[in-house]
Amino acid sequence: MASIGHVVLGTAVARAHDGTLNWRSAVAFSAFSMLPDLDVIGFRFGIPYGAPFGHRGATHSIAFALAVGVLGFFITRRNWRSTFAVTLVVLSHPLLDMLTDGGLGVALFWPLTPHRYFFPWTPLPVAPIGKGMLSARGLYVVAVESLVFLPLLFLRLDPRRYSWTLRRKSATSEKRVCR
Ligand SMILES: [Zn+2]
Repeated sequence: MASIGHVVLGTAVARAHDGTLNWRSAVAFSAFSMLPDLDVIGFRFGIPYGAPFGHRGATHSIAFALAVGVLGFFITRRNWRSTFAVTLVVLSHPLLDMLTDGGLGVALFWPLTPHRYFFPWTPLPVAPIGKGMLSARGLYVVAVESLVFLPLLFLRLDPRRYSWTLRRKSATSEKRVCR
C-alpha cells in the first residue's frame, strides 16, 4: 500500500484510544501502523522478497503484532487499553496489505508457515516500491487510497462522544419524567 491507508487507520485508532484527536498520538499510532514495512530495508541487504524475512514476511505476521503488543504492554506500564490499541493497529497493516492486488501475499501465520496469503477479494491496487511511487502507477495508487480511506478520518470513533450522547438522552428522558 502507499501508506495512506495505514496512516488513516493509525489516526482513527489514536482518536478512538484518546477520545479526541491528539496529533502526537496520531503520529505515534500511524508509525505503529507502518512499522511492518520496515522489512523493505531487507532489499538493501539482499534479502529476497519471498524469504521469511523479506518484504511482507515475518513483520507482517500475527506473531509480530503480538510481540509489539507485549513490548507496548511494558512500555505503557501495563496499560491494557493501549496495549490492545497498539496490537490492533500493527495487525491492521498485514490485513490491509492482503486486500491489495499484487506483489507476493502476506506471511500472516509466520513462523507456523511461511505461506503468503491474500484475501479472496483484493480491491486495492498494490503500490510500487521505492521510487516507483513517483510513476503514473504510484499516483493512481495514491488517488485510490485517498478516495477509499480519507473519509475514515471524518468518522466519529470517539467512544466518549457516544457515552455523552447516551447521557444526554437519559438526562432528557429524566426531564420528561420530572414534568
Ligand atoms: Zn506492508
